[in-house]
Parts: sequence; structure tokens; C-alpha cells
Amino acid sequence: MEQKGTASEYIKVKRSKIHSTGVFAKKDIPEGARIIEYVGERITKAESDSRADLPLSRHKKDKTNGAVYIFELNKRHDIDGYTAYNTARFINHSCAPNCETDIIRGHIWIMALRDIKKGEELAYNYGYGYEDYMAHPCHCGSDRCVGYILDEDQWARLKRDLAKKKTKAKKRVRKRKRMNA
Ligand SMILES: [Zn+2]
Repeated sequence: MEQKGTASEYIKVKRSKIHSTGVFAKKDIPEGARIIEYVGERITKAESDSRADLPLSRHKKDKTNGAVYIFELNKRHDIDGYTAYNTARFINHSCAPNCETDIIRGHIWIMALRDIKKGEELAYNYGYGYEDYMAHPCHCGSDRCVGYILDEDQWARLKRDLAKKKTKAKKRVRKRKRMNA
């Protein structure tokens, strides 16, 4: 039997400009509100490690793997949200998010980081690590977008590395020009 997705008075799910499906505010949401719980299967770290590398799509180009839906709950357990009933899995990442996640007594909640207006798309920072960041480009469209889905703690490092790459590319162009001259 198909399980119904978790619901919240605050949200509706529809197509998103950021990425395929998104979650939107059905009405104004006050700062600090618990919007919806991120639910899924509670798994051990060992199980989590083995699921993290599993590709979720049969299309080779789609690099989405299990890690995308796995949430750290505590030192021993994670939550695997890759289930039909976990509506919160549709919430997109943003570099300028209006939500954050919080763990309250063993439950992961999506919380309003500020007052959110009816109709706004909900988003939080997925908090991805630096390894493999190139595989996760960001299309959030915010003024603060750093181009990749990455924890804000890593942004300084990213900017340094991207600046280095740019300088290298410029040097390469100059070299080529000299050769053509
Ligand atoms: Zn972004």
C-alpha cells in the first residue's frame, strides 16, 4: 500500500524553479515555527555508510546517491529520508535559506529561520561537506549563491579555491596568446 506523505498546515508541494519539486509556504509562517519533521528510517552509521554510495537513479549521468537524503541524527544513528512519506525531502537547498534544521529530542525538524511570507519557497542549507562539492552545483538563484551546495562553514575555502582556479585559467590564456603571436 502506498503511504501518504507527511503533512503540515504550513506547506504545499509543487514544481520549483530551483530544482524539480519544492515545498512552499501555504500561509505566513512565523520565525521559529516547527514547519515539518524530516522523517525516515532510523539506521546505524554502518548501514548509513553503505547506503550513502548507492546510486538512486538508473541514469548514469544522474549522480544522486543515497547520501543526499541521509541526515545525521546523533553519533550512533542517522535518518534515511529516501521514502515516499517523507514530504520534507522535497525541500530544496539555498545559499540564502529561510529555514534551518534542528534536532529536538531525537526528531529532525525544519524550522523557520525568519518570518516567511505565504508563497515563498522553503529552503535550508543542506550542509554538505567539501569533498565532491563539484558534483552538487547550486541553482538557488539567490544573490548570495556560491554556485555549489555547500555548508556555509566551507564558503571561505571554496572562494579561495575558485580564485586560484581563475588565476590558473588566465595564465593559460596568456600563454596561448603568446604562442599565437
Ligand atoms: Zn545557491
